[in-house]
Amino acid sequence: MVSTHPPEVQYSGNQYLPKISKEAALSPNQQLLPLTSTVNSKDCLVIGGCDVKTLVQQFGSPLYIVDEETLRTACRQYRDSFKHYYKGESQVIYASKAWSCLAVCAIVASEGLGIDVVSGGELYTALTAGVASDKIYFHGNNKSIEELVYAIESDCTIVVDNWNELRTLVDIVKSLHSASHPRIMLRLTPGIECHTHEYIRTGHLDSKFGFDPGDLDELFAFVSKQSAINCVGVHAHIGSQIFERQPHRDLAGVMVQWLEKAASYGLNLTELNVGGGLGICYTESDDPPSIEEWVKPICEVIQEACAGQNLPLPKLICEPGRSLVANSCVTAYTIGSAKKIPDIRTYVSIDGGMSDNPRPITYQSVYRTVVANKMSAPMTETVTIAGKHCESGDILIKNAQLPKTETGDILVVMATGAYNYSMSSNYNRLSRPAAVLVANGEANLILRRETYQDLVRQDCLPERLTHKVSQ
Ligand SMILES: *Cc1c(COP(=O)(O)O)cnc(C)c1O
Repeated sequence: MVSTHPPEVQYSGNQYLPKISKEAALSPNQQLLPLTSTVNSKDCLVIGGCDVKTLVQQFGSPLYIVDEETLRTACRQYRDSFKHYYKGESQVIYASKAWSCLAVCAIVASEGLGIDVVSGGELYTALTAGVASDKIYFHGNNKSIEELVYAIESDCTIVVDNWNELRTLVDIVKSLHSASHPRIMLRLTPGIECHTHEYIRTGHLDSKFGFDPGDLDELFAFVSKQSAINCVGVHAHIGSQIFERQPHRDLAGVMVQWLEKAASYGLNLTELNVGGGLGICYTESDDPPSIEEWVKPICEVIQEACAGQNLPLPKLICEPGRSLVANSCVTAYTIGSAKKIPDIRTYVSIDGGMSDNPRPITYQSVYRTVVANKMSAPMTETVTIAGKHCESGDILIKNAQLPKTETGDILVVMATGAYNYSMSSNYNRLSRPAAVLVANGEANLILRRETYQDLVRQDCLPERLTHKVSQ
């Protein structure tokens, strides 16, 4: 990290603690550490009332630690901001690809949110967590026949992505001879550019997702004639980790025009889904709007545009992923060996890496870190944090500012709740870490650490090979 602090001031891990003020509620997406983070008398980081070093002793290392209060606060801020700024009906749905597991789905649903899923596996997870199917939305640009049938049978809303899928879906519904007509929404590419990483930009025209807006007339004409399906609305998602507010304002305006066009084909579309994409703080230099600041202009634009066109207010849906879960979680690692290369750099190795957090190697993502058991120690060292995988690119953080560390210290990487566990792998046959949910001094396991047996569970050894091995 290139330090922006004057060299005579020595900062410590404490600088990342949330700055709670009486005037304004903190927006979780603007914090590096979870909202309940404090430091105890042992100079150790405490989250949800639990000492992080003790958690690692209890549950092992590496460990994902999820702060329930931060996660619930993010859910409530989305939900309540829509209630406050939007005069029509609204529904926040969690893009569960950010972190799909039973506990996260259950917490989010208990706050009244719906869930968006992009595969049969995520649908199964949401249903198993007890999420009501009328609040589940099924996305994806290449759903399989099995997934479409599963979605129809479980009665969730299907967000149709393209012509092939639309025609396939109509055929499947007809062949099932069922009385029910699945609720669908149409995903359209709005042609809106935003400044984010190429891999996570989806709203520009050259995207694999969604119908081309040039097909709108043909699409609405086709859908208006299909009695097999019940088309309720339109959807768009323009990208992820977005800090600007203008793209979603533009999107809201464009989407109301779609509703108007649909009406001219006799289609009464009553739902409008603006997708997700609000950015979060991974470092102190990231400056995303708060959840409320993101919601407000979207509501305003839609209300104004609908009033202008004399359209009734649609049910307004958004589907954040990252900004709901990212900042509620940290990953705790144990520091192992260090390698000092004179005049070049010092590598400090940890017991995880690209298998539990593939974002740095995939997107060159930058993270910040604290040493959980040395929170007020001045950050005097600049080191590179290396994972333990057989891959030179397995670097979690380049030029991290750390206090002097030794083997056994607990390194905490912040804002790891989104797209970490969900993108994790078993590369080098490392077991996926455990995850604990912390609240009011209590810690509950939400993901069991994988064992060696788990790692070979899906392996098959044909009999004739067993022979060879034993010879
Ligand atoms: C990924 C995705 C989201 C969530 O994006 P975030 O940036 O995590 O908020 C929402 N909708 C769709 C269709 C997505 O693909």
